[in-house]
Amino acid sequence: MNTFHPLRFKPTFREYIWGGRRLGERLNKPIGAGEHYAESWEIVDHGQDQSIVAFGPYTDWPLRQFVLEHPRELFGQHPDFERFPLLFKFLDASRKLSVQVHPDDEQGKQLDPPDLGKTEAWVIIHTDDDSELYVGLETGCDRKALAEAVAQGNTEQCLHSLKPQNGDCLFIPAGLVHAIGSGLLVAEIQQSSDTTFRLFDWNRVGTDGKPRPLHIEQALNTIDYGLGPAQPQVPEKTSHPDCSRLVACDKFVLDRWQSQATVQVGGDDRFHIIAVLEGSLIVTNDPAEQPLSLGQTMLIPAASEACELQPQTPSVWLDMYLPTAAELRGI
Ligand SMILES: [Zn+2]
Repeated sequence: MNTFHPLRFKPTFREYIWGGRRLGERLNKPIGAGEHYAESWEIVDHGQDQSIVAFGPYTDWPLRQFVLEHPRELFGQHPDFERFPLLFKFLDASRKLSVQVHPDDEQGKQLDPPDLGKTEAWVIIHTDDDSELYVGLETGCDRKALAEAVAQGNTEQCLHSLKPQNGDCLFIPAGLVHAIGSGLLVAEIQQSSDTTFRLFDWNRVGTDGKPRPLHIEQALNTIDYGLGPAQPQVPEKTSHPDCSRLVACDKFVLDRWQSQATVQVGGDDRFHIIAVLEGSLIVTNDPAEQPLSLGQTMLIPAASEACELQPQTPSVWLDMYLPTAAELRGI
């Protein structure tokens, strides 16, 4: 067997007040009996939060161990990162998330302890009829106007809202204020960071009956007021007719495949994260020896040979990876 076969990890679940049960009901995640399953962390290497390998010779390895012991094989042409640079998760927002903003890398360095910045992107898997998203400020809302609105309890009036459709992708660069609305099931790729400044929490209380902390001053300082109302990404064509590019930024590339034909991924000296949103895929060299199906995620290390992904039915999946130096120049 190729030593650097694709890696599958055990998902870890987070329960927050805004979560629900759809990670189990729609994505077949093995959640427990609770009512507030909010996030399934699929690929993570951030402090104590570690994805654990589920199959094959590296079973029970945390992702961090791979980063430390096999950086060349994991990262290929990219530099040896101190930790895995991306984090991928699914979210079930049964209720709205807080209105929040994340720092960029420069602002993240100033934090104690320092953290990466956080640029993220969402792909909407399911919406309810009345679901909304909040992405960016309304035109003309500057720091002064926003600060006043927050002080008066009118934060929502400054936020640009939209009604997302299934399949929409929203790109959320660091500094763009945002909130995921209720009734949404979302796939999220982000920089591996855990720094969130909460501007407004809809006047609700946490599981302990108390309001969750806000970070209004830090949020106001972090928001990029030049980033106006945001709209869903317009998918771009790629060299393969079954693949469209949803995001190409300096932190990651996010492609969506819709195909019933066998395609190749990897073999290009960089890692790929594959996440299935519809259908299922048989993957060559997969030590799990079972299809990668709806709601499941795989990490293909840079040193893996190119893998064939063979859809068992018409399938939809995401492919997430780092841009090459040449691609970066074109972004
Ligand atoms: Zn966020």
